[in-house]
Amino acid sequence: MAIAIYPGSFDPITYGHIDITRRARKLFGRLVIAVVANPHKNPLFTLEERVELTKDALREEGLSEIEVTSFDGLLVECARAHGADAIVRGLRANSDFEYEFQMALANRDLAPQFESVFFMTAGNYSFLASSMVKEVASYGGDVSNFVPKSVQKALREKLGAR
Ligand code: ADP
Repeated sequence: MAIAIYPGSFDPITYGHIDITRRARKLFGRLVIAVVANPHKNPLFTLEERVELTKDALREEGLSEIEVTSFDGLLVECARAHGADAIVRGLRANSDFEYEFQMALANRDLAPQFESVFFMTAGNYSFLASSMVKEVASYGGDVSNFVPKSVQKALREKLGAR
């Protein structure tokens, strides 16, 4: 069975990421979520927090068999280390496409053995992004439709402590 790696910032994990995870899990024998250590975006949660939150959220959603790891540096090296065949990414609007296209071509150039596989967002999550969740939460808004309870709690703690 094929092995896939699903990389991202997961700052924090949302129901959009979880939907992609659930769907990718059906196609791949093994799925590994890889949290990137040093995303360009200045993360709200530390790497350790993002990994733990991702694990908590997956447990809450009945997906505890999905492995969660972290990586620093090149994604293709992480894919190699896990014996992956494919790189999973999600696509929302046009804005995702340009970036994902560029990354997929760069990764293919670096390591053609890894196939990039894209999952189209579910309609109800098409607007959902971690940045939007953080913004709503920072104003005390209700994010229960966007993230599981463990993430809601972490957002309250993190943003309340600011
Ligand atoms: P990155 O900083 O690498 O883009 P993200 O955590 O923002 O990391 O996203 C990881 C992947 O999940 C990306 O491919 C992104 O397009 C996808 N993704 C994020 N939110 C959604 C969503 N609501 N629906 C579908 N895909 C999503």
